Amino acid sequence: MLPDTINLHFTPYCNARCQFCFAKYSEVQSPCSTQSLKKIIDLIAQEPASDQLRRVNFVGGEPTIHKDLPALLTHAKLCGLQTSIVSNGLEMLIHSIEPYAGCTDMIGLSIDSIAPNVIAQAGRLHRTSGYLPDRLDWLNLAGKIHNSSIKLKINTVVQRLNHDEDMNDFIAGMTPRQWKIFQVTKIDGQNDIDFQKWKIRREEFNNYCFRHRNLVKQGIRVTHENSDLMLNSYAIIGPNGCFVDNASGKHLYSRPIEEVGIVEAWAEIRFDSESFVARRGLGGPKKEVAYV
Ligand code: SF4
Repeated sequence: MLPDTINLHFTPYCNARCQFCFAKYSEVQSPCSTQSLKKIIDLIAQEPASDQLRRVNFVGGEPTIHKDLPALLTHAKLCGLQTSIVSNGLEMLIHSIEPYAGCTDMIGLSIDSIAPNVIAQAGRLHRTSGYLPDRLDWLNLAGKIHNSSIKLKINTVVQRLNHDEDMNDFIAGMTPRQWKIFQVTKIDGQNDIDFQKWKIRREEFNNYCFRHRNLVKQGIRVTHENSDLMLNSYAIIGPNGCFVDNASGKHLYSRPIEEVGIVEAWAEIRFDSESFVARRGLGGPKKEVAYV
């Protein structure tokens, strides 16, 4: 059975150039058309879900630079699906969140740091304008998201440049429902060339998580995903409309979903349901934690 959340990496294009990005999808020559994406969403909606509503998470690249994102979100909602976006937030900060109100259940903002030098060095700034958000920009955006009754989640990738940072006050001020903390992960063909520059030890990751442990007392669900837990525990559809298998630390693909259907395509990839459960239920490194 398909997991409840399907991550639809429907575009490989991005308005930033993060050097450690593991979702470049440069191997995908021709991303699916909007028409094909709608068919894939229809197929997802037809699959039985568990006790929870099925959710399509629109991911990239950067979803908000795709002109048809609002239409795709609306289509998914009309199919009875929950919807979410994972975004670097830059377009929402520069323009508006208005196109997503009413068709989006949750926005996940990727915010790795609020230190301008760290953001700039990592490449998480607007590629053409050079715009780099500050703390106040983010807090304003969070306020708009809350006022639109869209749930807010924050995703943070912990890497060499930000692993010492203290984000407690900032995250508390953003008041997200959830903060997901990821250890930077190597995927061959995506970010392997310079990975040594970004890599951190498990202990460094655990220390970061421990530094922020008290945020749960403020009602924020904090989850941690080390690089082992991230592989093969997500249901991912690539920009080519195929399921992605990353068990071996690189992207392998099923046949196209539109051609063979969801069930056959899903059967062609490996998925670790134990990691999936651990990731959602327990939120990260328990046994090997070396909190010091
Ligand atoms: S914003 Fe996200 S998708 Fe874009 S380059 Fe950075 S990590 Fe990759």
